Amino acid sequence: MAKYPFLPEARQFLADYFDIDIRELGGEEYKGAIERAFERVVQAIRQKRVVFESRNMIDYKTEIMSFPIAVGLTAAVNDDMLRQMFSIAEAKRCFDLMATGGLEEILEVSRGIGFPVIEKERGGERTLFISIPNYLRHSPQFWGPSWKLVNRRIIDGKVLLAALELARLLEESIREQTLERTKRSMAPDGFAGLLRERFQALTQEWNSYKAKLETWVIEERRDTPPCVIRLLSRQKNGENLSHMERRTLATYLIAIGRNMGELMDVFRTSPDFNERIARYQLEHLAGLRGARRKYSVPSCRTMKTYGLCFPDQWCDNIKHPLQYRIG
Ligand code: SF4
Repeated sequence: MAKYPFLPEARQFLADYFDIDIRELGGEEYKGAIERAFERVVQAIRQKRVVFESRNMIDYKTEIMSFPIAVGLTAAVNDDMLRQMFSIAEAKRCFDLMATGGLEEILEVSRGIGFPVIEKERGGERTLFISIPNYLRHSPQFWGPSWKLVNRRIIDGKVLLAALELARLLEESIREQTLERTKRSMAPDGFAGLLRERFQALTQEWNSYKAKLETWVIEERRDTPPCVIRLLSRQKNGENLSHMERRTLATYLIAIGRNMGELMDVFRTSPDFNERIARYQLEHLAGLRGARRKYSVPSCRTMKTYGLCFPDQWCDNIKHPLQYRIG
C-alpha cells in the first residue's frame, strides 16, 4: 500500500483510518504526511522522479496518506505542466518498484488498477498476454519500433508480453490515472495551517521553475508542417512526448538550422527534462557525438506509420516534412 497508494486496499485503508477532507488537514498530527506530500511534488519538479526509500515503507501510514495530499496540492496549483510532471514522476517511481518487485508484485498492481492482462500456463510456465485491441489502446506505437504491432509476437490472436513490458504498460496507465486525479478541482482557499504554508511554498517553487522556461525561441513559420506545429505546441505545454515524437521534433529543428542552445530551450519544458541526458541525446541526433552520424527527419510515410501525421491541404503530394510550404 505504501508503494502503490492508489490501489483499492490503500484507498480503503485511508477511508477506514483517516476519512477526512484534505482541507481539514492543517493540524500537527498530519505534519509528516503533509511534509512528505510536499516532498513528493518538489521531487517531481526538481528530480523528475518521486523517490521511495526504506523509511517510506517503515512509516507506511504517512506514505499512504501523503499521496492523496500530494495529488491535492498539485491540483490546487492548477497548472497542466505540473500535473504532467507529477503524474510522470509518480509513475516512474512505480515502474522502478515493480521492476525490482518481480512478477507477483507487477500482477498485483495490474489487478489493482484493472489492467486487462491475461495470465496463461504455457509449457509449465506462467505467460502474459494482452488482447490486440487492448494492446493498441495501451501501447502507443510511437514509443519505438519494438512496440509496433508488426514487431510483436502474437499467439492465438493475443500479444505476448514480458514481465517488464507489462510493468512499462502499467507505468503508462498509472500516469494516466494519476493525471486524471490531479485534474479534479481543488480550491486552496480552505487550506489551513501547515497545509496552507506548504501550498504557498510549492506555488513559489513552481513559479520559479517556470520562470526559467520563459526563453521559448522557436516560432511557427509559414513552412512549418502541421505535424511539427502540433509537436511544438504539445512540447510547449509540457506534455510528455514519446521517444519518436521527440526525435522528430529534434531532427526537424536541427535540419532547419536551430542551434544547441535553442534546442535545449525547447526541450527544457519536457516533464522529465534532465539537462545532461537531453544535451547528450540532442548532440547525438545532430551528429556531434559518437559516429558523428546526423539523424534525418522521418519521412511522411514513416510519420504516418507512427500515427504522427496530421496533414492539411498543403501536404498533398509531399513526401517529406521538409518539403512543406504554404501557398
Ligand atoms: S504529410 Fe508529411 S508534412 Fe504533412 S503532416 Fe503528414 S508528415 Fe507532416
